[in-house]
Amino acid sequence: MAGSMQASALLITKLIDHAAREHTAQEIVTYWADSSITRTSWGEVGKDARKFAQAMQRLGMKKGDRIATMAMNHAHHLISWYGAAGMGGILHTVNPRLFEEQLVYIMNHAEDRVLMFDKAFAPIVESLKPQLKTIEHYIQFDGEKGEYPTFKELIDAEDGDFDWVEMEENDSCGLCYTSGTTGNPKGVLYENRSNVLHALSAIQPDVMNLTSRSVMLPVVPMFHANAWGVPFACAAVGAKLVFSASNEPSILWKMIREEGVTHSAGVPTVWLGLFADMDQNGGDYGKMQVAIIGGSACPRSMIVRMMENDIHVAHAWGMTETSPIGTAGSRPTNWDDLDFDERVDSISKQGRPPFGVEMRVVDENGNVLPRDGVSSGTLEVRGPWIIKRYYRADEDAVGDDLWFDTGDVAVMHPDGVMQITDRAKDVIKSGGEWISSIELENAAVGCPGVAEAAAVGVFHPKWEERPLLLIVKKPGADVTGEEIIAFLSDKVAKWWLPDEIKFVDELPHTGTGKVLKRAIRDEYKDYKLGSLSEA
Ligand code: ADP
Repeated sequence: MAGSMQASALLITKLIDHAAREHTAQEIVTYWADSSITRTSWGEVGKDARKFAQAMQRLGMKKGDRIATMAMNHAHHLISWYGAAGMGGILHTVNPRLFEEQLVYIMNHAEDRVLMFDKAFAPIVESLKPQLKTIEHYIQFDGEKGEYPTFKELIDAEDGDFDWVEMEENDSCGLCYTSGTTGNPKGVLYENRSNVLHALSAIQPDVMNLTSRSVMLPVVPMFHANAWGVPFACAAVGAKLVFSASNEPSILWKMIREEGVTHSAGVPTVWLGLFADMDQNGGDYGKMQVAIIGGSACPRSMIVRMMENDIHVAHAWGMTETSPIGTAGSRPTNWDDLDFDERVDSISKQGRPPFGVEMRVVDENGNVLPRDGVSSGTLEVRGPWIIKRYYRADEDAVGDDLWFDTGDVAVMHPDGVMQITDRAKDVIKSGGEWISSIELENAAVGCPGVAEAAAVGVFHPKWEERPLLLIVKKPGADVTGEEIIAFLSDKVAKWWLPDEIKFVDELPHTGTGKVLKRAIRDEYKDYKLGSLSEA
């Protein structure tokens, strides 16, 4: 027997309508690339999104057409997200920091028809343009008008009298490509339904803990996995959003302190930069309460510093293919009984999946491993916001049972907490045993004088691979290799200790601030351990 409740599709437009209606005056603040600060509100964003949808239709965009953005975080970008979804378009966020050939591949593969871009990225756009086969309209998001029409011009020409295009909840609304660590980047197509369910999940206390009193500064870029869904989650609760088109630590601190930011979301390197700035220039944490940290493992020393300042670290794990939330570092039920160190231990793990995400760890034969805190295997996930098939792929990315292989190596603990031990391709294989590069790195950054660390497996004639640890020192620090080894000695197993420590000026990073392990592995492919003396 069918139930007797109302049919109401889960649509992105309902999120913006809700925020505009119920949280009309709630502010959306932007720090722009030209250092100006503007303020709008959910009410205005709602109106402007309708104008944007009208403008896209005027340009000939139809349901299902791809509208690309190459932009930092700002209010115009937000408006385009909701506006594109409102005319049935698919908003394709392009990561401007990818290599040129990847960008060309991605935009041609997506068959984007419009490209909205920040003025700062105009040189990239100019150089790509001759190779972009399907883009008909180039629109500049910010700054003074140059060669191309501006976003402002576009929406000022419309009256906003527009009814959202009719949609099903399974219609797609967003597209984001993985960074293509192996082979070509792959497109992940998000749906209205998956994004709305993800937003409802994200707001809960054990995930991002967002309310209408929250002030959220997403440092994670909007071109990376939907900025972790923050722009949708904030609309669901009517939180204040603070955007910064600049990721300069001094600017981020300014916005955090002046706008009363309570929540932030970003990769660990963002906080390394913020801490370094604070250590040099002083200042406080303002009203910061929750730091959602993910994208790569949050180092223990970072969690300690946050907790000492009464900031809760929501240590989140996820990927582009999972919208991206897979877990968040929720506090365990026995939190009140734990001492400080035990609490840090708990938050250092990646946490439990929220309702909607199922998770398991399997061995190489696909056997499900016990949740015993020691059995390590491949992490698999499934649920309504987990990928089924890559965009335009011939086959599903999952089997009939829908379990998606994440490529991560993890352990499940008896209390349901998941702990990432490595990425399958980053694991250091020493004599048939696995060394977790993540654990080595995290332990190393706890050593005084160490700013950043990367551990990679380097060929070894006897053990197959042995760890090489690259270290970037903090400015002015004079830490030695022996000191780092001594520091690590009581934190990791003896046979995990790196065979060599090499000091470098900097490490390569991805567009989202993660250490680019692939590039390091390529660089040290033929490296002979011990061939270089410690600098
Ligand atoms: P990219 O391949 O560009 O890094 P994703 O953002 O999709 O793209 O990366 C997802 C991967 O990042 C995960 O598979 C995992 O390896 C890593 N990751 C994300 N969050 C965490 C975390 N909290 N701890 C450890 N690894 C993480």
